[in-house]
Amino acid sequence: MRNQVNSAFLYDEKWIFRIIMNDKTNLIISCMDYRIQDAIDDAIDGNDEKFVIMRNAGANVKELRNSIVGMIKQGGVKRIKLMPHSDCAAMKIVYSALKENKHYDAVIYESLVEQFNGKNFNSLKELEIINRAMQYDNIKNLLDENNVGKSIEVESIFVNTEKLRYYQRNGSFVLSFPVSAKYSDLFNKIGKIRGSYFLHSLDIDDLAADMIIANKLVGLKKLFLLYANEEEKETLNEHIESMKKGNILVSDIAVEMLQKGL
Ligand SMILES: [Zn+2]
Repeated sequence: MRNQVNSAFLYDEKWIFRIIMNDKTNLIISCMDYRIQDAIDDAIDGNDEKFVIMRNAGANVKELRNSIVGMIKQGGVKRIKLMPHSDCAAMKIVYSALKENKHYDAVIYESLVEQFNGKNFNSLKELEIINRAMQYDNIKNLLDENNVGKSIEVESIFVNTEKLRYYQRNGSFVLSFPVSAKYSDLFNKIGKIRGSYFLHSLDIDDLAADMIIANKLVGLKKLFLLYANEEEKETLNEHIESMKKGNILVSDIAVEMLQKGL
């Protein structure tokens, strides 16, 4: 499915790693859901400069494999926190696809659903437990395959959304490279994206299925492209244009560029 869009970003181009990997020793992999902003904020605990955040639908490691490997090969990451959560829309998609034969786009099936084929579950809660264990194993395997399994600490934190303060959902989602400035400031200072879903990866191609989930399935009609510099801006813009040509993103979406400026 990665071939459906022409990526403007190549892993061989190291500039993005140089930008974000300065002293960043922690990686958080979490869901795009707007409700878990505070939980991520708590995990960062004021040490924004040390964190890289990757978020997609369901804290799905499968999609982020190449980006994670790209990062760990840079050598800076010492700890990975995996943060899936309860009442997750991504797990509802998986559940309805495999238990109720609901049909989804091929890119969603391949990126998200397929990995749960053959797993034994009878409720959403059971599926969420499976997801937590499976994504943890996915990271462990990825680290072992790249011979860094013993040098990087992996922690799984399951976020119970019932215990969280709810922001008002505002119908928008944010696409950006992993945030290199203060992550918590995104929620605290930029009012217009508070309550938004957040998608971050080193390669925007990783997020093709998640863009469709956010737009078509969650129903978010406003997309903010959040950039820190001109290179990021150009890359995000090019990607959106190529997605439009490939009809991956429906045409009824409003796109706005937004500089981080934090
Ligand atoms: Zn979720």
